[in-house]
Amino acid sequence: MEAEEESRFALILGKPGGGKGTISGKILKDFPKFHHISTGDILRSHVREETTLGLEAAKFMKEGKLVPDKLMINLVVEESAPYLEKGESLLLDGFPRTVGQAEALESSIHVDMVVNLDVPNETIVERLSDRWIHEPSGRIYSYSYKPPKVQGIDDETGEPLVQRHDDKPETVQARLELYDQATSPLVEYYERNGVLKTFRGTQSDVIYPEVKKWLHSCFEE
Ligand code: ATP
Repeated sequence: MEAEEESRFALILGKPGGGKGTISGKILKDFPKFHHISTGDILRSHVREETTLGLEAAKFMKEGKLVPDKLMINLVVEESAPYLEKGESLLLDGFPRTVGQAEALESSIHVDMVVNLDVPNETIVERLSDRWIHEPSGRIYSYSYKPPKVQGIDDETGEPLVQRHDDKPETVQARLELYDQATSPLVEYYERNGVLKTFRGTQSDVIYPEVKKWLHSCFEE
């Protein structure tokens, strides 16, 4: 089997608003064998559809808190099972976010590559206050660097754009603090396992070519 054909398990780690979604989109274009699982997107769709999980998760998400580990682990096991059974490669975005989640994941899957995005807090606060989304598709706009053709309107559907509840400034601060406490220990956790690489910067377009180079080198190993 050629190296590029083996199934791989990759994670993308980074602060809220640090460009995980943007970098994931670019990775998926260049490495189409990855199936993308974004826990934030999945949770938002449960919230919109008012499922039991969605109603429970919404209470935490609105305040910028983490959804409890047990719910998240069950969700990820369920979402990833069909792909793992087929031996497909996965790119997980937004999970794990706590050491408990990472340990639960490692007990069933070995993580091969962790892309750690390190973006300064000032950049994140500016970026999130400027971020608008088209809720049904998850398309993201920014009035300063990726504006819609018409202010407040999605380019493709003509439907209105909204700001995420958790992108309000006071919630952003809480999410950044939570990241430092709960999620940043994962950097050390994966560094110890020898699978993590950190990419520092403020712009996804500048960071991404380095990420791509590194992923290619991992596939060639
Ligand atoms: P981005 O800015 O790249 O969208 P984010 O960190 O702001 O990233 P999401 O990953 O979309 O946001 O997650 C949104 C919310 O969903 C989180 O603030 C949290 O409440 C909940 N959530 C998502 N993934 C997890 C997880 N693995 N564990 C606990 N809560 C989660």
